[in-house]
Amino acid sequence: MTTTTGPLLGAEDIHVTFPGRRGRPPARAVDGVDLTVGRGEIVALVGESGCGKTTLARTLLGLVTPTSGRVAFAGRPLEYTARALKAYRRRAQLVLQDPTGSLNPRHTVYDAVAEGLRVHGTPGDERAAVARALSLAGLRPPDRFFLRYPYELSGGQRQRVVIAGALVLQPELLVADEPVASLDASVRGEILALLLRLRDELGLSALVVTHDLGLAWNIADRVAVMYLGRVVEAGPVETVLTEPRHPYTRALLSVLPESPLPATVLSGEPPDPTRVPPGCRFHARCPSLASGAAESSGVASLCRGTPPVRIGDAGVSCHLTQVAPRVAPGA
Ligand code: SF4
Repeated sequence: MTTTTGPLLGAEDIHVTFPGRRGRPPARAVDGVDLTVGRGEIVALVGESGCGKTTLARTLLGLVTPTSGRVAFAGRPLEYTARALKAYRRRAQLVLQDPTGSLNPRHTVYDAVAEGLRVHGTPGDERAAVARALSLAGLRPPDRFFLRYPYELSGGQRQRVVIAGALVLQPELLVADEPVASLDASVRGEILALLLRLRDELGLSALVVTHDLGLAWNIADRVAVMYLGRVVEAGPVETVLTEPRHPYTRALLSVLPESPLPATVLSGEPPDPTRVPPGCRFHARCPSLASGAAESSGVASLCRGTPPVRIGDAGVSCHLTQVAPRVAPGA
């Protein structure tokens, strides 16, 4: 039974392991993630390239079957039959990063937006549904865009067409993977404002996958920071971004323009899910361990030998934060 209380989307202890190829060990792309998205809430999933955020997003959409763990939507566990997944994808729509790649250059805007209705055999007035979706996506008057082709549109307009293609099915959740990464700075703000307006006017929920903490600041209600297959810090955006506690979050924030934090450039190898280190998976790159802050707090051996635990879908996964109320500035 579908419930209207509780989170819209819930993920519990999700693991996704890909088999090793050519003698390489298996890749633990997602390695024990809990995450929720509430109704009418925008959650930003943030991390470097290779941290597993896109695999997690695809798993939440049912495009990847988890090795273990559970995804639930509106209180019901996801079923991995073709029929159940097709029904689910009406309710949870993916918006990809590159609108040019997402749109067929030979399809008009009308056909691109109507495609979802046709795939799902949705009854009703197709023209009215396409016009509504274009209008919601900010392409007005909608019939002016019906017969245009993608090459006749700006990058921002193409991304709006992609969003209209998702909205036409009247989903409850959008999963947007780097939704503005391929756009000029001048139109990024417009697309982010559109996502906020859709949340406010339609009560739409969104999971926004991004490498950009600045984007999370502009759009999200909550943020989850992911490193090497795990969420290492999560909470309300103003808490996580103004009082970051995990050394990884602090390092990501420190390189943003106008950050009050001392700039920290992470050293060491970028995350490799085929070689997850023992102990805290961030320890080889951790500025707090390198600076001696973890040593003087007595947690350095824990950092190297015992994985820190983050309880529930909020909190921080760091031994240092469990002995000190705040990571020392500059640590
Ligand atoms: Fe750094 Fe230790 Fe915290 Fe890991 S647990 S982030 S190594 S201080």
